[in-house]
Amino acid sequence: MNSGKQFPIKFFKNPNALSKTERDEILKNPGFGQKFTDHMLIIHYNKEKGWHNAEIKAYGPISLDPAVCVFHYAQEIFEGMKAYRAKDGRILLFRPESNARRFINSAKRLAMAPLPEEFYLQAIYKFVKIEQDWIPTQEIGSLYLRPFMIASKSYLGVKPSPEYLFILIASPAGAYFSKNAQSVNVWISENYTRAASGGTGEVKCGGNYAASLIAQQEATKNNCDQLIFLDSVEHKWIEEMGGMNIFFVFKDDTLSTPPLNGTILPGITRDSLITLAQNKGLKVLQEKYSVHQFIEDIQTQKIREVFACGTAAVITPIGKIKTKNGEYIINDDKIGRITQDLRKTLIDIQFGNNIDHHNWVKEVK
Ligand SMILES: *Cc1c(COP(=O)(O)O)cnc(C)c1O
Repeated sequence: MNSGKQFPIKFFKNPNALSKTERDEILKNPGFGQKFTDHMLIIHYNKEKGWHNAEIKAYGPISLDPAVCVFHYAQEIFEGMKAYRAKDGRILLFRPESNARRFINSAKRLAMAPLPEEFYLQAIYKFVKIEQDWIPTQEIGSLYLRPFMIASKSYLGVKPSPEYLFILIASPAGAYFSKNAQSVNVWISENYTRAASGGTGEVKCGGNYAASLIAQQEATKNNCDQLIFLDSVEHKWIEEMGGMNIFFVFKDDTLSTPPLNGTILPGITRDSLITLAQNKGLKVLQEKYSVHQFIEDIQTQKIREVFACGTAAVITPIGKIKTKNGEYIINDDKIGRITQDLRKTLIDIQFGNNIDHHNWVKEVK
């Protein structure tokens, strides 16, 4: 936090906060995104006052006029982060400045008012401190943080809203996929694409997800857990999953991930894994990779491991690829050596078990 400027954030304690017994019951088996903590944080923006009136108060429904912009033109962005509990009890965040900066980029792309990085970080730190009893032990999981921003002015004209709400909620999380670190089946989406050049693929807006749900449905119908999107021009180049980036491991231990070309979300996990793999002496390519080559490389066993990565599920091995034409098994449908090793290295840094050579981990005091 650079300038040292303090943004005032008021705290109104939830009189109906859950008891320790009730909370512990939830924390035994939190699932993902189903239960929320006792409080939420809201900051208001309008043109006259800028960002103002920051409050942490009881979690609950918010009342909005039916005409507010977000309901009609989807002016909405979000982030995904986690608070981790170290073995010695410290509360840790992983590269929170990167989320703050990406949130600013997302705001700019959707013509929304950017929340200053320091205000974003102060909001996260203060909120996590208040909700710290909701962070599960590292055996169970972490506390998933969901900051988001919506256009809150009521009128139906198509133009950027002059008013916004920044809201932060949190949900204790076990593993994102029910099969933690077990391999998933992935469908190659040939009918639908996720993002086009000049569009919003490289920012985190809800609209990207809305447009991807039908493809996810198609994947589910084909008995797949997840899907891979191809580029929107040639329907040929592998881009990413619905909400995670993708890595390939070749038999000479070289890693490869699609390059950030404007249509792929620049994942913080992706970026961290590139660095960690390089630290281990592995070569990491950022090159276009066609789906045809991919299938061929699975068949000739030139590809040894494939995994998806993102904050929610960290690293998920991909064991089976399915297309209209067939199914292709990777590494006997099991987690591979390099995938396993990178996963452990990253998780150990995030939870404070490993030395953090990159100063990625920040303690909430
Ligand atoms: C959030 C997200 C990711 C992963 O980003 P992380 O910063 O690693 O969590 C990847 N792809 C999409 C589409 C996303 O929304």
